[in-house]
This record gives sequence, structure tokens and C-alpha cells, in this order.
Amino acid sequence: MTYQFENSEPQKPIDLYRLAVERAEAAHDGGTFGVGGVLADKDGRVVKSFQNRVIEDGIVSNPTAHVERQILTWYYEMENDGAQLPPLEDLVIVSSLDPCMMCAGTILTSAARLKVMALKTVYDFSVRTIAADGFAGISCNAAHDDGSIDVDKVDFERLPKGLRGLAEDHFVYELVEEADMEAFRDLQRRSGETFGSSLENVRDIINRSGGKGYEDLSNLVYTDFDHTDGKLDALIDRYDVLPEGVCFGSPDKVDEVLAPVLVHEAKKAVENGVTKKFNAAALVDSAGNLLMVRAGNEDEVPHNTALANLLQDYAAFRADVMRGDDANGTENIKFFEHPKFCKLVMLQGPGEETTDVMDIGLYGSSIEGPLANNMPYHLEWIVNGVTSDGQEFSQDDVANMISHFPPFYTDLVGIKGRQQENYSLFEDTISLARDYDDTLFDGASFDPAP
Ligand SMILES: [Zn+2]
Repeated sequence: MTYQFENSEPQKPIDLYRLAVERAEAAHDGGTFGVGGVLADKDGRVVKSFQNRVIEDGIVSNPTAHVERQILTWYYEMENDGAQLPPLEDLVIVSSLDPCMMCAGTILTSAARLKVMALKTVYDFSVRTIAADGFAGISCNAAHDDGSIDVDKVDFERLPKGLRGLAEDHFVYELVEEADMEAFRDLQRRSGETFGSSLENVRDIINRSGGKGYEDLSNLVYTDFDHTDGKLDALIDRYDVLPEGVCFGSPDKVDEVLAPVLVHEAKKAVENGVTKKFNAAALVDSAGNLLMVRAGNEDEVPHNTALANLLQDYAAFRADVMRGDDANGTENIKFFEHPKFCKLVMLQGPGEETTDVMDIGLYGSSIEGPLANNMPYHLEWIVNGVTSDGQEFSQDDVANMISHFPPFYTDLVGIKGRQQENYSLFEDTISLARDYDDTLFDGASFDPAP
């Protein structure tokens, strides 16, 4: 299947930048974050242009639908469907705003994959940023107020040490011919203003979507929902929500029941050949109801980790529930808490790979604002992750990694995670997983929070 380029006339870089900013303005006018992006080949032919789709029809439909992540998800899904697209190493991404940590991690996941495939040659696949983002951007430290970037300050120190070189090879700032500099500065200003002025409207919608934690979730029973038209039942079925009918009584008492559920999900995904990563993630609401469990499918889309699939699917489910709620009648959304009130439990915790940076960034994007104060740790894992050379990555290492992230993640959302304190949960997971693959957790140990 030959793919039709959106525009097969080669464009100058400045024209690609302009298109990205126009898409950002369209996104702003559509009521979502004012960010746009373009996927183009090396000759400047436009494969496809994108705009932010976090909010659609006034509803937070996918907090991870930033342009860079959309571009790469689209690319892999098209490829899986048999579309004849140019190889990724021949493509560039233009973004109207400096990539956030989720998008940076997503881009670096593709970059790392190219590197492995090509035995460490440097590739052209790159992301070109128009305007700076001093709050969530990977180069927030180099941001000027007018949207320009101080290239001498670009150091990628928001990333773990081992990934900074990779970022240097693939992130490009202020790449523009002298003759087009004035036009570029103008686009930078437009991009910065578009993003800035979209924030107020977007924050309002996000605050409404967050709502309050539902006080009576401990009594959450399926019969409480409105079943009159069967729409909610169909959604619960489709998204596999409340999969085991398990309530732990409290999010702090996540017990041995969860270990087999996570291991089962991880096992199923590996056996189905959609991933080689033995991992799964679960969302538990503030009353201890097990809401959703997911594994990754990295062999299909390299950045679809367990955590990404979980948070994306849960957001999509909530958006569909909100669409089904009528303004003066039923409100089924109150039964399904915003993830900021919930506990996220991973089978394997974060390490320092590109996907781990992406996971933490994606978690931040999904929380959208400060985490609720209803529990000390919203992010937990059972077994510690590993470093790039297979060493254990402890919860202190995770905390240290997050502490380098831009202010959005550290000061606003306030992400912190720990290894689950329940030793038997750890033991069960290890023994269940070892039945399956005894090499996966070598070197991992139990080191609960003091
Ligand atoms: Zn992003």
C-alpha cells in the first residue's frame, strides 16, 4: 500500500515550521493545547501534519495525545497496517513547542531502536523545536521568555546520564537559514503565544475532568451504575474495567491478590508475542477497587509500555463515560476517579531506559495537575527496575532521576514513587514470574521504604 504524502512538494524548513505553527493555532482554536507538529522527509515533503488532541469536544479525551507522541504512534500503526512509509531514519519531526518528558522519552525510544538496528551509526531522525517551554520542556533550562532557546545552555541534564548523548544526536534547536531568521523568530513568538493563551481554557476543562474523589467508592458495586441503556456495561466490557471484581478495601492494603493478576497479564502479553518486556501495571482507586490492568505491546508500537497502555486506556474509558453522561441526569463518571486520586502499581518499577523516562513523563501528563493528598505515594512497584547495564534501580535512584525533571513534574505534579511495602506481594510475584522466566528478575531485591 503506497502512502499518499499530505504534500509531496518539497518544502523549505521555514515552511515546515510555519505549517507546524498553523496546526498549533488550529489546535488552540479547537479548545486544546495550542501545539502542532509535522512529520516530513529529508527533502521537506510533508508526510502528515498533526495537532494536539488532548481535549476533544470539551472533554479530556487523551492526556497523552501530544503531537510528537501522536506522530510516532501513527507511524508504527500505519507500518503495522502495511503502509509503505519512508524509513524512520529518513524522517524528521517538527514540533511547535519543545517536547515534554513523555514526548522526549517517546522520541528517544525510536532513536535508540534505530541505533540498535544500525549498529550505532548516527541517524538523521530528529526533532526540530520551534518555541521553548520553560515549564515542561526537555530543554526548559535554556528557555527565554520570548520563546527562543539559548542553544549554548542545551545540555539534556533532565535525562539520566546514559541518554544525554542520544538526545544530542536527535534534538535540534534553532536550525534555520540566516535569511529566514526573522520569519523564524516571528513563528517562535506566535507559537509561544498560541500555547500560552490556550492554557487558561485547557486548565479549566482539566480541572472539571478531575472532579473530586468519590467519597463512597468502598461501596462501589456494579448495580450502582446506571444500566438503563446498556451503554456503560458495554464500555466496562470493552475496556475491561474492574476486571477481577477485586476490592482491596484500601489502596494501602494492596494484597497478594494483585501479584497473580499482574503476572498473568504480563505473561499473556509475552506469550501473544506483542512484547518481550515482562511487565504489567494496575490502577487501584482510593477505596481499593482494582480498576484496570494492562501489559505493554512494545513489539508492535515501541513506546506502548504497560504504564502507557493503562493510563491511555483508562483516560479513553473515562472520556467515553463522560460523553455518555447527560447534563441533568446520570453521572456515571463519579464512580471512576481521576488517576490523581488513584494508586498505580507496576509489576516492575522504572529503570533508566528511554521508556522509563517516557513512563514518568506520561504519568505526569495523565495527572495534569497536583496529585491528590489522599495517600503518601501514588506510584508504586513490586520489583525494582534495572539500569541499562542490568543493575538494580532502587527507589532512591528513581527519586534521583525524577528530581532532574522539569518543574511541571517535580513542583506541580510532585511525582514520587516507591517499592511496595508488602513483602509477600514481592515474594509471590518473584515466584510466579520465575516459573515463567527465571532470568527476568536477577539481581532484584526487596528494599521497602523505611
Ligand atoms: Zn509532549
